[in-house]
Amino acid sequence: MTSLAVLHASQLITLRGPRRPRVGTELSVLGIIHNGGMLVRDGEIERVGPSDEMEKNVGDADVVDAGGHVVMPGFVDAHTHLVFAGNRLDDFERRARGETYEEIAKAGGGIRSTVEKTRAASELELLTQAKKHANWLLSCGTTTVEAKSGYGLTVEDELKILRVMRQLKEEVPLEIVPTFLGAHAVPRELSPDEYLDVVITEMLPRVTAEKLAEFCDVFCERGYFNIDQSRKILSTAKKLGLRLRGHVDQLTNSGGAKLMAEMGATTADHLEQTDEQGIAALKKANVQPVLLPGSVYALGSSRYPRSREMIEAGLAIVLATDFNPGSSPTPSMPMVLSLACTQMKMSPAEAITASTVNAAHSVNQGDRIGSLEPRKLANFVIFDCEDYRELAYWFGMPQTNSVYVRGDRVV
Ligand SMILES: [Zn+2]
Repeated sequence: MTSLAVLHASQLITLRGPRRPRVGTELSVLGIIHNGGMLVRDGEIERVGPSDEMEKNVGDADVVDAGGHVVMPGFVDAHTHLVFAGNRLDDFERRARGETYEEIAKAGGGIRSTVEKTRAASELELLTQAKKHANWLLSCGTTTVEAKSGYGLTVEDELKILRVMRQLKEEVPLEIVPTFLGAHAVPRELSPDEYLDVVITEMLPRVTAEKLAEFCDVFCERGYFNIDQSRKILSTAKKLGLRLRGHVDQLTNSGGAKLMAEMGATTADHLEQTDEQGIAALKKANVQPVLLPGSVYALGSSRYPRSREMIEAGLAIVLATDFNPGSSPTPSMPMVLSLACTQMKMSPAEAITASTVNAAHSVNQGDRIGSLEPRKLANFVIFDCEDYRELAYWFGMPQTNSVYVRGDRVV
């Protein structure tokens, strides 16, 4: 392995600080070093400091001149549906004509249409498409993703998706944290109770025996899995040693946030409809909210989650793309930063903390990634701007200059 000296960052966004997710006013503290630099050895960060100080210790390291640009940790995208076949262009056009998500699902679109295509695809076909998605994510400055199954809905097809993720990890530099989301929808061929039984008695034991996932997730929503069904799945997963996440309170306030608190989940995701009782429950149980403004935007809704109230309540907020073919076809964290600032009234600094260090903790990787500090992995991005606020300000335009994973340039 080689050594690397990164010099002359206009702003080195370190996010150094306590080894836990940031809350309240801490979300605004980016630990910026102006004209900053960083020494990297064997894929890990060795030193961080003023550029001239780093320059004295370059030794035989390869020099990366950041040229007066922003250098920051790679984004950690804590909620994606990375592996699927095909796309949902027809749904997209129907929505443009004014049909709702639920109407489109009833008419044969929605999650089930992606399920049909994903079942029909071979592992190699899924892997090929997933590699394309992984490269999109990397080119937007994301170096770690949480990735969910959920477009198989049979034992073999769910395992197939999780195995594709494991193979993908070997073939692309993107770091992947796998989540089992068998309870994403009820397949056409089974009743809700029959499918629940398959998830609990067949899928979960296989997934854990083959160590294919670190987390278990459920889509707790009207027409998908209700509170009781979700509780059964999550408690089984917990007993089998998985950590918990959940799609909750997206389209209706069904008490999903409270359920995630009751289950001691790591995250509660979406939360567009969550009220103050839900927020209080999350706080009490230390659950991290994962907010997904890309899906609100792409569904043409204006009901964004109550991020300011969540921050004021002391929640360790996370932002993610929800990258998926139906409700959020974007791999771009900079786009999510733009939405967080313009639609959810978060500051650019809060949005960056939520999508790096806080997101890292939400995928149980807070000790290894999410900030630029000694002994963390050298996963960082150089952006073509001088001020970090430009990332959220200029939107719809790529600003990635280069991306490094474990000290190797990958974009
Ligand atoms: Zn999702």
